[in-house]
Amino acid sequence: MSAAIQNATVPPQVLLAHYLKALKLPTFSREYEKVAFECAQDQADYPRYLLRLCELERIDRERRAIERRIRQARFPQTKSLDTFEFKAIPSLNKSMVLELARGEWIERRENCIALGPAGTGKTHTALALGLAACQKNYSVLFVTAAALVHELMEARDERRLRVIQRQLDRVDLLIIDELGYVPFTAVGAELLFEVFSRRYEQGSTLVTSNLPFDEWTSVFGSERLTGALLDRLTHHVHILELNGDSYRLASSRKAAKSGRSNSDSAAGDTINSDSKGGETPDS
Ligand code: ADP
Ligand code: MG
Repeated sequence: MSAAIQNATVPPQVLLAHYLKALKLPTFSREYEKVAFECAQDQADYPRYLLRLCELERIDRERRAIERRIRQARFPQTKSLDTFEFKAIPSLNKSMVLELARGEWIERRENCIALGPAGTGKTHTALALGLAACQKNYSVLFVTAAALVHELMEARDERRLRVIQRQLDRVDLLIIDELGYVPFTAVGAELLFEVFSRRYEQGSTLVTSNLPFDEWTSVFGSERLTGALLDRLTHHVHILELNGDSYRLASSRKAAKSGRSNSDSAAGDTINSDSKGGETPDS
């Protein structure tokens, strides 16, 4: 009864706004009048009117989901393959990178390791693959190895290690950047090993490192642990080799040179000046 009275006295726009909010259809709410007007002009019937609204809602919902995934991934910067200059790093297998950007390896719970010296584009590639994964609607988390170990140790001290571990387990693609710059304590190494161990065949992990495999023991301390870790990580793995000169160095040299000569600046320039300040320095 009260609903009938309500329906009779409250303007339909107000009730509609209320119901659409409760039903979580914000695009319907925002667009229904405009689309009604368009449909009247096009002489589109009611099913077509509803269909147009549903399509708009669906597109918007997908966009919001991707934005959410990107926020949750905690990327320190946005980098994509569109701005990656493959010509600058001939050792990198371009077709493998493009294939990885399709995301099927994440479905298969495989791993990826990007190896190479500082400034060769490992983090850029990892960020770009992470972004591509978000766009395919996979959940992603980007962390540096040092930050992850720090967080795990803190969680352990505060007796909430299980919570963090479960959160990590739920991520489709875990990106661990910069493995190798800072050696871990024995406890830190154990905790990181556990992360890899739990993810084995359960979720994808992408690791970037400046160290070749035979030097990973220097980071983990123990040969036994490193062996067991590599065994799991490399079972189903795609290895990206980025061997070459630092892109940063090359582009700042290039900038300095063109500043000095002050000539032939742009046309045919293959190295762009993406590497302005703000990124983490590698040392
Ligand atoms: P690494 O992680 O290997 O030390 P980064 O990925 O941080 O190197 O690259 C250093 C900087 O140079 C970043 O700003 C990155 O975007 C840029 N960069 C590196 N390689 C390329 C490339 N091939 N094309 C475009 N930008 C690149
Ligand atoms: Mg890096």
